Amino acid sequence: MSFTSTLLAWYAEHGRHDLLWRQTTDPYRIWISEIILQQTRVSQGQQYYERFVERFPTVADLAQASEDEVLRLWQGLGYYSRARNLHAAAKQIMEGGGAFPTNYTDVRALKGVGPYTAAAICAFAYGQPHAVVDGNVYRVLARYFGITTPIDGTAGKKEFAQLADSLLARTAPADYNSAIMDFGALQCTPASPHCEQCPLCESCQAYHQRLINDLPMKSKRTAVSERHFLYLLIHDAEHLLLERRPAGDIWQGLYQPLLIEYQAPATEQTMLDDIHKVLHNCEGAVIQSPAFRFRHILTHRILHLTCYAIHCPTLPVIPSLQPVPFCQLDAYAMPRAILTAIEQLGVGQD
Ligand code: SF4
Repeated sequence: MSFTSTLLAWYAEHGRHDLLWRQTTDPYRIWISEIILQQTRVSQGQQYYERFVERFPTVADLAQASEDEVLRLWQGLGYYSRARNLHAAAKQIMEGGGAFPTNYTDVRALKGVGPYTAAAICAFAYGQPHAVVDGNVYRVLARYFGITTPIDGTAGKKEFAQLADSLLARTAPADYNSAIMDFGALQCTPASPHCEQCPLCESCQAYHQRLINDLPMKSKRTAVSERHFLYLLIHDAEHLLLERRPAGDIWQGLYQPLLIEYQAPATEQTMLDDIHKVLHNCEGAVIQSPAFRFRHILTHRILHLTCYAIHCPTLPVIPSLQPVPFCQLDAYAMPRAILTAIEQLGVGQD
């Protein structure tokens, strides 16, 4: 059997046919699922997908929503620019008459839609012959065909895209794409792939040349930057001071407590001095407990967070910060790291 027919046979028996987005050919729902799945595991993705399409069942519903509400539903998934792009693209579709685009070029023109998502939407919604190339596909193809071209270079991207296209089952593009992605996720896994029970084992180059742990290859390592955040969770008995994060940085549009950022690790004394400067007019302010410190890892970034809970009998007036009642915190989209700090410091839990 060929590579393609072996994959299709494997998929018929082992594929994840019950996934919610595999039960529909609605391009809007497929689009939402693909964007969600780019940043989370399938099990968690299903919950987000269900909540999202329940609240915004159509493109029009999403386009009419406020950005705050879209971000709130996205909270915890990370990569908030993707949620903003979804929202912007929904408006783009409505401005164009409201019909979801039906060909690759027009789908690809939507804000935030790259080649992978456009191929997925066209194949899954319309049965058009476009091959998807995601991390799973790179891994399966690199291993099976023994390709050592780095997948993160221009040459590699082109080579893998052409190979994926040549292998596509043109009469069943949706099944083929689902098959190779499931095969990568379940069978040819990044660590410890199940080679002994693999239907492609006999002709797999990586298996025979003992290259499984070396493929796929990458050429460059992305530099990781480190940032040092001091958060002051300033609150009274009923409110927490929050501000909206500005554009052009991580967590754009999400809410956070007062932030002081340092260019390098700061000593505890420096931080306490800075806290006292902020609160110099705030009579009776009390730092409630030792600092809560933790690291939060984002793509290409490590955040070092130090967080203090500070109780003030009367909240200070600080430009850009607004008092938010504890009972309304759920309505404000916040990064996961901030939710962790609020919970760990017990703010609002008296
Ligand atoms: S034999 Fe192993 S490495 Fe090769 S395709 Fe199968 S699971 Fe992947």
